[in-house]
Amino acid sequence: MAFDYQRYIRGGKLPHIWCPGCTYGTVFKSLLRAIDAQKLDRNDIAMVSGIGCASRLPGYVDFNTLHTAHGRALVFATGLKMAKPDKHVLVVSGDGDATAIGGNHFIHACRRNIDMTLLVFNNYTYGMTGGQYSPTTPYGLSASTMPYGNVDFAFDIPSLARGAGATFVARGTAYHVPALDRLIVAAMRHKGFSVVEIMNACPTAFGKRNKFKSPTDLLLWMKESFVPVEAFEKLPPEKTQGKLPMGILHSREGAPEFCEAYFAMVERLKEKEGTGKP
Ligand code: SF4
Repeated sequence: MAFDYQRYIRGGKLPHIWCPGCTYGTVFKSLLRAIDAQKLDRNDIAMVSGIGCASRLPGYVDFNTLHTAHGRALVFATGLKMAKPDKHVLVVSGDGDATAIGGNHFIHACRRNIDMTLLVFNNYTYGMTGGQYSPTTPYGLSASTMPYGNVDFAFDIPSLARGAGATFVARGTAYHVPALDRLIVAAMRHKGFSVVEIMNACPTAFGKRNKFKSPTDLLLWMKESFVPVEAFEKLPPEKTQGKLPMGILHSREGAPEFCEAYFAMVERLKEKEGTGKP
């Protein structure tokens, strides 16, 4: 039987704003299937976003949702999780929102290990605001603010997340859809801060400027360039050129979760106050 996406979509909010050929709709559907697979009650899900094309997603879903300020989604999500620790908190963000404007929040959320999932929609550009280069625009490629080629080196989001202490780090793409469904489920089931980088096609602001003639060219590039991590690790170094691993890249279970540690600290403080000790 066909999957019924409508039951998760907020009535009256469609059509969406995304361009023809954008893969955000593909990822949106993957996310809904991943949530459905876990049999979660929609009232137990909270979705938070900042600003950008990806950040419009919470407007379309019938969950508890917050559309916040540019780069600040993780801050709002942290407050929400501490007030309602029983909720499954999902944050959706673009590469600029998560790693430029919100870059400092990103690294500190990673080291805090609060139990929430961050999905970073990486399309190598600021799509909504006109194709400016972002921290993930590859070296040498073009952007509206780097028309002769980017001269900054790009962040590798999974490496950044792992280096900052995230206990679950994964990468998927909008081309490898069944694998993406599974990655989102695994990230949401992880106890702690999980980050999933999702490679996306932005034909409007990135593709046309970089000689991807059609959205299909971007999807074919994803197909060729992203290799399951188990196979990637067996490649000789010369065959890894131009390729990136995808899948679960890092997972560490059992690290103390922030809310639990925080509330335990509050209990210790209350006990101490009860003793009258300074
Ligand atoms: Fe998608 Fe790019 Fe259009 Fe934004 S600008 S909706 S990312 S294609």
